[in-house]
Amino acid sequence: MNWYKQAQQSLLFYPYSGMPSSQSVKVDPISIDQETGENVYQCEKCKNPVLESNITVWYARGAEEPGVSYNMPTYNYDRILNTVTQVSQYLMPFYQQLQQYIKDQDLESKRNDTYDYGYRTSINSWEVQVPQLPDILKNSQEIMDICYFKNRGYSNSGLCSLLNVTEISGGTLEDLSDLILNPEKTAQEFFNNYSKKEFEVSYKVPVCDDCYGDIDKCAFCDKLIFPKDRQYPVVYNDTDVVCEDCLENGSAGICIECGKADSMDDMHYREDVGEICDECYQNLDGAAIGWAKAMISNLNIPIGKNLPLSEKVLKNLSTFLNRYIAKYGDDKIRGKGWGRLLHLSEKSGLPEGAIEYLINKSHDVDGGSISDVLGEIENNISAQEYMKEQYPNLKSYQDLPFDIEVLPNFSHEKSGFTIGITPSDRFFGYAERKYPNIRKTWDRMADTPHHPGVLAYARCSFEMGNDLVINNLQRDSDYDNYVSKSYSGSSSLEEAQWIDRITKDWDSFLLHLIKSICISENINAYLTTFDQQKQKWGNLPIHKSKKTYKEVPERMGFPLTDPGRAENMVERGGYGDMYQIANDIGMNWYKKAQQVNMELPIPSTLFHATYRANLESIQQVGITSCPEGGVKMYQDCQNGVYLHTDPDVAYSYVETADNDSIPNEWIEGGDIVVLSINVSYLDVELLETDPNLPPPMNEDSFLYNGTIPTGAITGVL
Ligand SMILES: [Zn+2]
Ligand SMILES: [Zn+2]
Ligand SMILES: [Zn+2]
Repeated sequence: MNWYKQAQQSLLFYPYSGMPSSQSVKVDPISIDQETGENVYQCEKCKNPVLESNITVWYARGAEEPGVSYNMPTYNYDRILNTVTQVSQYLMPFYQQLQQYIKDQDLESKRNDTYDYGYRTSINSWEVQVPQLPDILKNSQEIMDICYFKNRGYSNSGLCSLLNVTEISGGTLEDLSDLILNPEKTAQEFFNNYSKKEFEVSYKVPVCDDCYGDIDKCAFCDKLIFPKDRQYPVVYNDTDVVCEDCLENGSAGICIECGKADSMDDMHYREDVGEICDECYQNLDGAAIGWAKAMISNLNIPIGKNLPLSEKVLKNLSTFLNRYIAKYGDDKIRGKGWGRLLHLSEKSGLPEGAIEYLINKSHDVDGGSISDVLGEIENNISAQEYMKEQYPNLKSYQDLPFDIEVLPNFSHEKSGFTIGITPSDRFFGYAERKYPNIRKTWDRMADTPHHPGVLAYARCSFEMGNDLVINNLQRDSDYDNYVSKSYSGSSSLEEAQWIDRITKDWDSFLLHLIKSICISENINAYLTTFDQQKQKWGNLPIHKSKKTYKEVPERMGFPLTDPGRAENMVERGGYGDMYQIANDIGMNWYKKAQQVNMELPIPSTLFHATYRANLESIQQVGITSCPEGGVKMYQDCQNGVYLHTDPDVAYSYVETADNDSIPNEWIEGGDIVVLSINVSYLDVELLETDPNLPPPMNEDSFLYNGTIPTGAITGVL
């Protein structure tokens, strides 16, 4: 028989000295052992029967699990009222003395609901002895019962707070004024709140000794985790678990990607994701890195592959080698004719760099033939022409054979990758002819903190899903670094300076590399500006950055974006506009098709919708775009005449037009008309896919950057 039944049969009183939530009662036994008469319980874990005397561990199920429901007894109201009245009568004389004291000390004026001007301190210093108070209270079993239920130990006000009190301050007495002046109200509240009140106590369940060892322990705090407790698998193995407490107190965290737990110290915070574990972090980054690696290996650009020779040297070499082959024919490098070639090159007044290059070639063991050398020169020339064509203001571009690698970002805040470039072995092989110790010099130059061994890098992060931002475009391995790492009296300063000079176009190379990747993938790419870098780095030396973040992007002709769009896109703050180095919309189908020699998918008929009110002027001057008299249907769309493959789509654009500058009489004039346009009358150079829509949504809408002649209009629908 449990305590409650027992209590019900005898005195009906609550047997605990604490609130129900801190209590538990043994779950009911499943049977009674025939021989010993002992209770038999079910093990919470294995569900096997176990004798009470064999149970060493009982644990309380959580408060959220069903427990045992009980009711407080039906209390006797009169007895409660009687006790409260006795308390009131006992305290009344003291209460009156206190009021007199307040009057005598003129404390009333200090009493204020909001601020304490010393009133409370004054009345608290007034104290009286109340030795009979506990006895009065303990006389009432109802009051005791309720006070235990309320957890009197922690209750610091009201009747229950007086259970062990023999001395009382003026402040406490003031707080009891309701009770003293109106005992009936207090008694009624007590009765209504507790008589027959339902409450629940959770079950205590047993675990048998066999199972005890199997119960999980928190890998972090060693606490036992019972089967019904919440537990979280850890990231680093398949067996360990972490308890809820460790999550709540912050020593462990849950990975938002995989839902597993790990030490908070090992979690990464990713702005666009949240807390993620190291493994998921590696995977996320791995995806970005894998993407970049694939892009780079698929990339087909002619730069980053050629030895650093000036345009003048290249042109001279090309002419010389072409004439040589025409006259003497091809030969192997170091073949019979090679000596003659070297001899002639010196005689022919070739620039020094050109002769050096040929001498250098004669050291190539597997150098191929003279025509291979010519091919190499021609590739180099076309690489330079390629850059000149794209960036006419870049003046000279000197290529270099680079090893390109994709590295994890130094900062883990965002998903992304770092592209690092290093002069290749081919370059060093070439340079060693001039400076035999160049690799040593390079090693010291490239001893840098972030990405050692790399000449320069572009740290990129993905923003807003599909935009790439180059947050850092930086060269670390340079002359300055060499000097700072160098022992005094170093003799190879000249070599370091030479590497600096010969690799000077690293930034235009990296920018073009990233631009090319993003264009082929149809994504936007941005570069932070010099101002943003200044903001970001505070007072760190950024004197070298001006060329990279201002001069080079300006010379390459990258436009600045709309500042609103670039907002929030830069790692660690730094708002404002950025250079747009690749633009998915700018690459329209027409230009793209031209580049890949695709058959142009131009429909023979396109449709344009407008208000009927415009027909008359269209019949005279054709369909003009907005700056020449037309009016845009949407405030923010780009200028031009919009054409659609589907007449209904054309109609719907005008139907839902939204621009305050559309004249009222057009709209009031009623209908919308759809004109069919014969595309062969148009200049396809002026036609592009709708730049306001991302692909593939823009496939059936076009923008014509000119006036559509009246002759092209074949009908009014
Ligand atoms: Zn068990
Ligand atoms: Zn724990
Ligand atoms: Zn994870």
